[in-house]
Amino acid sequence: MPGVTEAQMPDAPSGSTSPTAGPVRDPRPGLSGLEPDVLSAWFADRSQPGYRARQIADAVWAGGSGGAQAGAEVRTLPAALRDEVDAAFRFDTLTATDVRPGDGGQTEKALHRLSDGALVESVLMHYPARGANRQRDTVCISSQAGCAVGCPFCATGELGFSRDLETAEIVDQVRAAARRLTASGRRLTNVVFMGMGEPLLNLDRVLEAVTALSDPHRFGLGARHITVSTSGVVPGIRRLTALGPQFTLAVSLHAARDPLRDVLVPLNRRWPVAEVVAAARDHAEVTGRRISYEVTLIDGVNDTPADAAAMADLLRGDLCHVNLIPMNPVAHTPWRASPMDRIEGFAARLRQDRIAVTIRRNRGQEIGAACGQLAAERAGEPAAPVVARRRELLVRDSAAALRAVGG
Ligand code: SF4
Repeated sequence: MPGVTEAQMPDAPSGSTSPTAGPVRDPRPGLSGLEPDVLSAWFADRSQPGYRARQIADAVWAGGSGGAQAGAEVRTLPAALRDEVDAAFRFDTLTATDVRPGDGGQTEKALHRLSDGALVESVLMHYPARGANRQRDTVCISSQAGCAVGCPFCATGELGFSRDLETAEIVDQVRAAARRLTASGRRLTNVVFMGMGEPLLNLDRVLEAVTALSDPHRFGLGARHITVSTSGVVPGIRRLTALGPQFTLAVSLHAARDPLRDVLVPLNRRWPVAEVVAAARDHAEVTGRRISYEVTLIDGVNDTPADAAAMADLLRGDLCHVNLIPMNPVAHTPWRASPMDRIEGFAARLRQDRIAVTIRRNRGQEIGAACGQLAAERAGEPAAPVVARRRELLVRDSAAALRAVGG
């Protein structure tokens, strides 16, 4: 499907999202990642009045509607000062964005180029009003370029890890989505950190981004409308618990039994599922916030009655909600989404133990809305023998895992 181009996307550096293969990283900080007092101090150093920092902030945030992408748009500043600000900072850390619409206009996948050529993705999803639920526009953003966790059902895992994103590179994905929504008379209502990367492995920058997004004087989105997901970085969950309620915590669970979760979420070998759920349970108790568990269901792999029973045992009595999501097909795996009747059976088994469950519709399959799919396309498909070998390993490992747990 041809893309709608927001800014002309230059060709990717051939075959790689690595910053070493692309241009040099721009050293100027992004304005959306700066604490307000840093900007005030910068103007004070130049003997400029205090209101200048406010003028820049108004231009960058524009009341949550996305804001300026270049100094030239800030007409309230004298031209010479605009040039000085442009030389010191970036109004937008996304150098190009390629947008692909899908799902009859309900989903938009954006591939963003960063200053060093690294590629990251965000997905904007529109949910029309239904019953008592108001219309929502949610953007799913990336916290890292690539990912080191390597979940085999995820296209980002295929790319490997490139680098952590800067605070402004995270926030600017949200501003880009807000800008597109504003142009069509809508407003962003939710942000989820479920794109490329493991947010809790870039936690300092993620926390700064959440602060900027939830600050009423900056982006101004209520913290209750922000969800950060983790594949199970236990020290990160514990650190969040010590900070108190910040946002909704989502845990990518995928399996309740270690041998299978070791395959599906390789981080499980470091922090086994019981430790992850114990940390999440403590988090819910301390913060009073329900944990959201995400479970991608893969046909014949993690959707058996034994898996549903193990998950019910693990989560029974917890303050939590489980989202069951049919897997997005990913080129290098032999796996497919579970059929809907099996997903419904899985949900029924959890509900039997009074666990709240929602079956989520898969969004944007035809535009590659599984995280990392667009960037993976740009990086080029691995050679056929490599794909075949990976498939073989996945079949072998998941079959061994199922044997080990009697699934
Ligand atoms: S599913 Fe998330 S944690 Fe796993 S490889 Fe993909 S981006 Fe990383």
